Amino acid sequence: MRRLLTVLSLASLSLAGSALHAQEQVLNLYSARHYPTDEALYADFTKATGIKINRVDSDDAGIVTRLKAEGSASPADVILLVDAARLWRGEVDGLFLPVRSKVLEAAIPTQLHAKPKEDGGIAWFGLSTRARVVVYDKLKVNKQDVDTYEKLADPVNKGRFCVRSGSHPYNLSLFGAMTEHLGPAQTEAWLKGLVANMARSPQGGDTDQIKAVASGECGVALTNTYYLARLMRSSNPADKAVMARVGVVFPNQQSWGTHVNVAGGAVARHSKNTTQAVKFLEYLVSPAAQNHFANGNNEWPVVKGLGLDNPALQTMTGGNFKSELVPISAVGMNQIKVQQMLDRVGFK
Ligand code: FE
Repeated sequence: MRRLLTVLSLASLSLAGSALHAQEQVLNLYSARHYPTDEALYADFTKATGIKINRVDSDDAGIVTRLKAEGSASPADVILLVDAARLWRGEVDGLFLPVRSKVLEAAIPTQLHAKPKEDGGIAWFGLSTRARVVVYDKLKVNKQDVDTYEKLADPVNKGRFCVRSGSHPYNLSLFGAMTEHLGPAQTEAWLKGLVANMARSPQGGDTDQIKAVASGECGVALTNTYYLARLMRSSNPADKAVMARVGVVFPNQQSWGTHVNVAGGAVARHSKNTTQAVKFLEYLVSPAAQNHFANGNNEWPVVKGLGLDNPALQTMTGGNFKSELVPISAVGMNQIKVQQMLDRVGFK
């Protein structure tokens, strides 16, 4: 009898064990990142932990729509998005599970993750950073006239300014940061000045703005740094010609610093594998993963003190630059206020 019991309990143990094992083996990752280099990163995680990554690719909006449609039946464990405004929206919409992790909290500067909840749980974590910088036509524009965000609204830049839609998350985040620096009244006046200086109605993406500066259609424009890095690393002669014509400024180096945005990650609200999901996010802040993760899209690691082996980013900054220190969570929170200002000043 005793023997039978032992056999039985061993059998049930191994059953429970294999069920647990099966559950532990796969993490469902909903990712808005589409960089081939990320593949190697996920493979390394699987090698180290035995946990497979099952990736669902979409853009930020597609992922959010899918999570909402799936509700509590969602199989998602980890979510990767590429902008602070969208991460904040996901948090407000209740798509993320706030978690505590000593590793993540020690690795990521406070201003680059969500504001902790009352119990200390954090809804999302910045994992890489990109700066929103100024590009200008070196033939027609003086660098001193465009070396701060404020100057882009000065009359000297009338008829020069180009930008993608004001409502795009990258701009909502920049304008949300400006609201933190200048206050709402001054920010709205600044936005009005930008509209008055436009060379054309907002259109296209950031790369289109860089090309329009190189063609002479625009004198000055805004772009995220990784679009510039892509052109700088391109072997296409047309791209080389573009980069020969445009100058790059990291604005506000003498004041609060250049606006920095994040790409980041979160544990999905209805994940059944939260321990492993946190483990995966912790893996992404390890030094090797950070460099790889950030370099996959020519971004900067969030973890400080890592050697950066990206020649385009080195060339762009001359090694270092001053970035603003406003909490990226506050920036995301301002986006509704900013959208109302854009509507009032006629910023398309
Ligand atoms: Fe982008």
